[in-house]
Amino acid sequence: MKAIRIHQFGGPEVLIYEDIPDPRPRKDQVLVRVRACALNHLDVWVRKGLPGVKLPHIPGSDIAGEVVEVGEYINHFKPGQRVAVAPMHFCGHCAKCVAGLQNQCREFTVLGNGVAGGDCELIAVPAANVIPIPDTLDFNQAASVPLVFLTAWHMLVGRAGVRQGQTVLILGAGSGVGIAAIQIAKLFHCRVIATAGNEQKLEKARALGADFGINHYTQKISDEVRKITDKEGVDLVFEHVGAATWDESLKSLKSGGTLVTCGATTGSSVGIDVRHLFARQLTLLGSYMGTMGELHEVLSHVFAGRLKPVVDRIFPVKEIRTAHEDLEKSAMFGKIVVNP
Ligand SMILES: [Zn+2]
Repeated sequence: MKAIRIHQFGGPEVLIYEDIPDPRPRKDQVLVRVRACALNHLDVWVRKGLPGVKLPHIPGSDIAGEVVEVGEYINHFKPGQRVAVAPMHFCGHCAKCVAGLQNQCREFTVLGNGVAGGDCELIAVPAANVIPIPDTLDFNQAASVPLVFLTAWHMLVGRAGVRQGQTVLILGAGSGVGIAAIQIAKLFHCRVIATAGNEQKLEKARALGADFGINHYTQKISDEVRKITDKEGVDLVFEHVGAATWDESLKSLKSGGTLVTCGATTGSSVGIDVRHLFARQLTLLGSYMGTMGELHEVLSHVFAGRLKPVVDRIFPVKEIRTAHEDLEKSAMFGKIVVNP
């Protein structure tokens, strides 16, 4: 099959389009023909070099495609079926896995990070990872859902326990997780304040349901939040930007508020004044991907049309270098997808 592999870490030029042997499914696996694979910021981190990535490596986390072949032990899928692949790897038998907490498994990793991903034509995955998709979603839309919607759902629902009517500040509304978070917060009838780097992105965030927009380059986030909330601050801050926005995010919280974070795109070293943490009784939560149960839960809302994937642009997989360059420029609103 054709695949994108990296043989060394570096810039987009290390992404090589080449022929490699087809994978063979084990008896408990399903072989999926990849029709679309969506990019995430993780692809850039993996390409630049993350611990645990063994070379050569196939990147790509978010896969939609068709079942080609099923292992001997599998009887609930058939060839031709349209599916999405859960973008995670876990052992399936430890105490955390059997409790449904796959993202706390010691073997847990994201597809395309610690294990081979989907920037290729065929992938063999455990049957538990394979989820049928409805005809209402095309492959590019389906591939745009799993990682970001699961991450945002686990952050807001699983970790922060979002409640109806809360006020939520969502950083980086033009990113995949931001787009998911706006919609999930609105599903819970929250008041949503979204930040983005330009007016076009803020307009699109409003079209997805955001009630207020803040330009995080030209406006001071915490000042705008104070104005919008009549000096009170927000119940929840949805963080993934990191160093560039951290102080403003903390300042935007009301007393007793919660900040939940899943990333640090602009830098991972941040500070905190412990006096603010205890005197204002803040809660800081870390979040990483989500569980299989949560993936099925958030997908049910996508399949019913209550949450909508947003696809920005699509490339043939052999043009993946351009796709990575576009991702690093953050010029998009929504997902960048490649097609084998
Ligand atoms: Zn496990």
